[in-house]
Amino acid sequence: MQRTVRTIIAILACLLMSAQPALYGQSAANKQKAIRVLTLNRVQFLYMEDVARFYGFKMAVNGKTITLSSKYSRLVFTNDGRTANINTVEQYLAFSIRTYQGHVLLSLIDFQKVIDPILRPGTIPRHVVRKIVIDPGHGGKDPGCQSGVVKEKDVNLQVSLRLADLLRKRGYTVYMTRQSDIFPTLDQRVNAANKIKPDLYISLHCNATANPAIDGIEVYCATAAGSAPSDSKVISAKPCPANAYDLENAFLAYHIQKRLVSAIRTSDRGARHKRFKVIADTTAPCILVEMGFLTNAGDRQGLSHSQRQMLTATAIANAIEEYKNAVVPKTPRAATN
Ligand SMILES: [Zn+2]
Repeated sequence: MQRTVRTIIAILACLLMSAQPALYGQSAANKQKAIRVLTLNRVQFLYMEDVARFYGFKMAVNGKTITLSSKYSRLVFTNDGRTANINTVEQYLAFSIRTYQGHVLLSLIDFQKVIDPILRPGTIPRHVVRKIVIDPGHGGKDPGCQSGVVKEKDVNLQVSLRLADLLRKRGYTVYMTRQSDIFPTLDQRVNAANKIKPDLYISLHCNATANPAIDGIEVYCATAAGSAPSDSKVISAKPCPANAYDLENAFLAYHIQKRLVSAIRTSDRGARHKRFKVIADTTAPCILVEMGFLTNAGDRQGLSHSQRQMLTATAIANAIEEYKNAVVPKTPRAATN
C-alpha cells in the first residue's frame, strides 16, 4: 500500500500546478482510502479529513485544535501551528497546519516523513541493527556548554559510557568516537563512523540557553530535503546523506523522545529537525539527543548525578531496542509439507 500511495502521489505531484485538489487512487477500490493533494505556494498539502480516513481515525475540530484519534492513537494539531502531539510526544512539523476553503491541510512531506513512519513502522525498510556508534559531543579543548563546574563534554562522555555498557550487555557491537577527554573534529567523527558502516549513530549533547527557567529534552534528526529545520522557515532544497534514512530517523527520534520524557521529569521540547553535521553527513540512521539544559538548575543537577545519567542511558537503550524490533528483517516461513 505504501509503495502504491507514494507512486501515485509522486505522479500527481508532477501534474499538480494549481490549487485544484486531485484524488489519487482513481479506482473504486481505492476511493475509500483516497487522499486529496493540493499544491499551495509550491508546497503540497493533503486534506486532513482524508488522512484521518486513511488511518481509520475519527477527526474532531474544536476551535484551532484538530484531533485525530482511534482506540490506539491520538494526534493533536493546531491550526497555524508547526507542532503535532503524537500520543503525548511533541513532534515538529516541516510546515504549519493550515486551512483552505474550510478544509484542514497537512503537508505531504510531514505525512510521509514524520507521521507515517511513526504510525506505520512496517513501512520502514527492514535491516539488522547490530553495530552502533555513540558520539559523546565535544571533548578536550572544546568543553561544549558550561554552567558552574559542570561541563557538557564530561556529562556527554559519562552518559555515553553508560549507554555503551548497556548496549554491549544487550549484545550490540558498540564503537565510540571518543572514550576519553579528547577532541575529534566533526569531520573525524563522521568519517570514522562512515568507515565502520554502523546500523545506527547516536550523538549525545547537553543544551544551554540564556533563560535559566527553560529545561527539557530535544531530539534531532536531519531535516528532510524540501522542508525547513525546526528553528527556521528556510527550506533545505538539496538532500544530505542522512536523508536516505528519513523514515528510520523519524521513528527513532520519536521513540527516544518519548522514552526520555517519560523516564525523566523534565519538559518535552519535541522531536526536531536540523542538519547538525554529525547527523547530516553520516550514512546511517542517526540521531542527536540534547539530554537537558545545563543552564537550568534542575536539569544540571540531574545530569551531574548517576541516577539521571542511568535513566537517560536506559531510556535511549530501550528506544534502540524498540527500533531494532520494529525493523527486524522478516524471517522466511518454515516450509510446510
Ligand atoms: Zn553540544
